[in-house]
Amino acid sequence: MYPKIVLNYEKLKHNTEKIARVCHQRNYSLMGVVKCISGWKEAVKAFEDGGVDYIADSRMKNLMEIETKLPKVLLRIPMLSEVSLVVKYSDISLNSSLKTIEEINNECITQNTTHKIIFMFDLGDLREGVFYKDNFVELFSKILTFNNIELIGIGTNLTCYGGVIPTETTLEKLNVINKIIKKVFNLDLEIISAGNSSMLYMMSNNQFDVSKFNNIRVGEGILFGRESAYGKLIKGMHHDVFTLHAQIIEVYNKPSLPEGKIGMNAFGEEVSFEDKGNMNRAIIGIGRQDIFDTHTLIPFDSNIEIIGSSSDHIILDIKNGNYKVGDILKFNLTYGGVLSLTTSKYVSKEVTYE
Ligand SMILES: *Cc1c(COP(=O)(O)O)cnc(C)c1O
Repeated sequence: MYPKIVLNYEKLKHNTEKIARVCHQRNYSLMGVVKCISGWKEAVKAFEDGGVDYIADSRMKNLMEIETKLPKVLLRIPMLSEVSLVVKYSDISLNSSLKTIEEINNECITQNTTHKIIFMFDLGDLREGVFYKDNFVELFSKILTFNNIELIGIGTNLTCYGGVIPTETTLEKLNVINKIIKKVFNLDLEIISAGNSSMLYMMSNNQFDVSKFNNIRVGEGILFGRESAYGKLIKGMHHDVFTLHAQIIEVYNKPSLPEGKIGMNAFGEEVSFEDKGNMNRAIIGIGRQDIFDTHTLIPFDSNIEIIGSSSDHIILDIKNGNYKVGDILKFNLTYGGVLSLTTSKYVSKEVTYE
């Protein structure tokens, strides 16, 4: 069935091995972040076979479905309403609020178990975590009184909201925090998690004293062979692990300018058009219910241009391409594309092993 998204297992495994090597050579553990692929079983297997040390996702729903021998990590700070699932189905969660950690501890008592947490610090990117300038000592004293919580590490997340790139200066803030924890609490934390795919640039160029930290959490870098500080493709990695196949349902030569009195499009957006004369237009059987942002699609045939979309249609200018009804068009995908397509129940999933 079309549309379908195709995963190349060998390419994904190769990419995972490459990043795992970068990490393990520097005595870092690697959390393989699979939130982009909605728990896709074979993709998770490729991460495992490629040598990640943990499987990490931001959604409990995915973690509950994922089968793995590796420890499962919840990346998004837990909602109070999901605490019982967090305790039951994840081994480690990232946290930043005392209230949530207290609730996790209570839930652990109920379930007669323990739960590991990594405490997050915000070094200036301004998404999750206690701001690095805040006094966290009192907070930590309280966390350490919870008998069913194991505080195993600290971490930070950069280049997500604020676009802050990891530099020696920024990372040093996490190192200082770790030193304070060592001194005040006499604690040698097991995990010092320095960041996500935006750390890969620093790591591979040895641009800082790697011995200060010992873990990173990587999704994009593995899935797309791209580091996310500067958006550069990483040499020796595959950038086409995922492809979209969609079928043409109509081909006609039509004007480029709509005819009649112009109002809004199907999404209530105002529209404007450039008159390019008549053009060869094709429609494929996929729409914004499957891929909300069509800019995340990159046609294999670089002559093809995506000119519009509605819930169930994408309209293409196929130029002089010789396409007919029934033909299958292929597209490369960006992170947002894979995220959206694997989330849609209308898109089939296929795996190739070559
Ligand atoms: C998504 C996420 C990651 C992984 O980010 P990538 O850029 O895909 O490597 C790491 N940590 C946290 C907390 C995340 O939410």
